[in-house]
Amino acid sequence: MPNVGQRPGKRVFIETYGCQMNLADSELMGGVLSTRGYTAAPNHDEADVILINTCAVRERAEERVFGRLSHLLRYKNERPEVILGVTGCMAERLREVITERAPYVDLVIGPDAYRRLPELLEQCQEVDADPVIDVKLDRAETYTGLTPERRPGISGWVTVQRGCDKFCTFCIVPFVRGRERGVSPEEILTQCRDMAARGYKEVTLLGQTVNSYKHEDTDFADLLEEVVKVEGIERVRFTSPYPTDFTPKLIATMAKHDKICNYLHLPLQSGSDRTLEEMKRLYTSAEFFKLVDDIRAAIPDIAMSTDIIVGFPGETDEDYEETVAALERIRFDFAYLFKYSERDGTYASRKLPDTLDEKTKGRRLAALIERQEAISAEIFQNRIGTTVRVMVEGESRRDAADLCGRSDDFKMTVFPKPEGRELKPGDFVNVRITDATSHTLLGEIVEG
Ligand code: SAH
Repeated sequence: MPNVGQRPGKRVFIETYGCQMNLADSELMGGVLSTRGYTAAPNHDEADVILINTCAVRERAEERVFGRLSHLLRYKNERPEVILGVTGCMAERLREVITERAPYVDLVIGPDAYRRLPELLEQCQEVDADPVIDVKLDRAETYTGLTPERRPGISGWVTVQRGCDKFCTFCIVPFVRGRERGVSPEEILTQCRDMAARGYKEVTLLGQTVNSYKHEDTDFADLLEEVVKVEGIERVRFTSPYPTDFTPKLIATMAKHDKICNYLHLPLQSGSDRTLEEMKRLYTSAEFFKLVDDIRAAIPDIAMSTDIIVGFPGETDEDYEETVAALERIRFDFAYLFKYSERDGTYASRKLPDTLDEKTKGRRLAALIERQEAISAEIFQNRIGTTVRVMVEGESRRDAADLCGRSDDFKMTVFPKPEGRELKPGDFVNVRITDATSHTLLGEIVEG
């Protein structure tokens, strides 16, 4: 039966910033809206509703959104009936600032309000002046029963856990995404099966500290055991695990199943024990090293990446050098390196003044990037002569004569299209590596 107030034919365009969970949330919003007659607009010009799904993790992400909003005002000027909405983490954090700085915004909603999106959009049409705001956090909301609108593809996300309970002192996530809760295994498996039925080959399970996943008696290793059984799904990835939530059982589960990819993103944040403690990370550098060693002992060819923050309040030259030394010791395949960005409301912003000047932070970041680039280049070069299994994604962006895809251990791999053989996205090939940059492997298809 049609819902009251349904407006068939409305078109929505969603622009997404930030992490993979935001990309998954945008698909969720698309799913909610599609059940109420909305379809995806191909571009802003043809959209009746424009939503920006935002990130609040660093100040720069928020500044970019304000920049975008002033740009999007153009569409409202041209077609005043267009609804412009800000959703997600920054909407949760900066509801008032958004309505002050961009008073033309019609809708501001946080990460737990997506179920109500159709009704909220209705309200936008009823009320003339005031923006509609819904930033209520909900300890129980896991969006069970809603099917995200996924584009046809081979690789997708399933959110298995929402919120975060860790309260790292630098981090805004627990404040904008609320408390940790696990999605039921039944719901997760339904989504994975649905993806497999639609031709997806790879799922990435998402959670802020995904390996602390818990739903009744099911822990994260149990969940993986179930997900690998889904027929048609050939690769299973997950992100991001939290170091102290790693169990020997989880390591054994990863080692046991070929479908679970040999790649792990394991955020370290700092190599200094003093800094780690002030960040309220729950491990020391030695404990982190031991975990890496244990994982590598069980899964020798596993690739790893990490997140590092430089310039955390009070970071001395010595603290910083310990981070450099940790990267040298562990030798991550690649790393996401960030400058500390003070976030209002966090413990660090209240208690630990951001004393380091931008110049020092910038210098440390640049030197760390340079060091990590050199390590990545060495690791990628070392792959020359080996053969990797690649899931074809499509044509290489640089050259239509080439195909590209990721290796099991998440390395972008580029190789010439084979003659006399039509390969499509989702096909698997073996590629012998003949050359490498610090971010890409280059090679050619071999039989097998
Ligand atoms: N729970 C997620 C964290 C999401 S934020 C995870 O473990 O991956 C992603 C990364 O952003 C964090 O790991 C951290 O390195 C970085 N980050 C978070 N807050 C930050 C801040 N205030 N300043 C700079 N970087 C930050």
